[in-house]
Amino acid sequence: MDDPLSPGLYLVATPIGNLGDITRRAVEVLDRVSIVACEDTRVTGKLLHHLGLSKRMIRYDDHASPQDRARLVEIMRNEPVALVSDAGTPLVSDPGYRLVRTAREEGISVTSLPGASAAVLALTLSGLPNDRFLFAGFLPAKEKARDAELRELAGLRATLIFYETAPRIVAALDAVARVLPGREIAVARELTKKFEECRSGSAEDLKAHFEAKPAKGEIVLLIGPPPDEAVTAIDAEAMLREELRYAKPSQAAAAVAKATGLDRKSLYARALELK
Ligand code: SAM
Repeated sequence: MDDPLSPGLYLVATPIGNLGDITRRAVEVLDRVSIVACEDTRVTGKLLHHLGLSKRMIRYDDHASPQDRARLVEIMRNEPVALVSDAGTPLVSDPGYRLVRTAREEGISVTSLPGASAAVLALTLSGLPNDRFLFAGFLPAKEKARDAELRELAGLRATLIFYETAPRIVAALDAVARVLPGREIAVARELTKKFEECRSGSAEDLKAHFEAKPAKGEIVLLIGPPPDEAVTAIDAEAMLREELRYAKPSQAAAAVAKATGLDRKSLYARALELK
């Protein structure tokens, strides 16, 4: 029999598809904790069953209240508690951030066990530059907010990584084509599963592909960085056009100058021409 685990919070990454993608340490910790806090007891119950484990589970999801957190933290003072999400690394576009914060504030020991996460896996597969990247969670569902978010990130010299859903991928690619033209895109789908694929190309080409053959399953959308100054100029032109749909030339120029680092006066002159 192993020594009991010290009391505290253990963040345990679980597979994102292929059940083989769980570490030996994760299985060992899940075996030795008293309680597994999880988003959905049915989903985690299946994983535990697959691992041959039977554990008390407590639901901890996006709707958890401060009282739910306080109760869990009280348990952690005396017992080891694992937090898992439905799939992948807890806290990455999943619940747990407030729980970790509260536990740390209360002086509870917090241990994080690394493992699968769709964002990093997609980045490594995509062939896009990975020396600088920004993971930005899910893009907003509404067009105006989605465009605004893409505009905000347009000047960043980094690969952008978003989580997406199959019903929204065509609209997302349409927005990328309009707001960030000329970028190299990758769409990574069903990672570690039977129908895994990672498709690269322009946003227009990928949009046409998924219009003709609707995407299924879970998706990561990656947008390559602007390759050089020339592309930044093209991006700036497209961004100006987008901004001018809602804003005055001076406001549009200010927003694009902030995003791209380009000269505001020249952008203003161009905005007046475009208007
Ligand atoms: N915590 C998870 C992680 O570490 O990757 C992410 C949870 S988030 C609620 C779910 C989103 O992650 C999906 O909508 C999809 O965008 C992405 N995702 C999860 N599993 C995936 C997979 N096998 N292939 C592609 N994307 C995946």
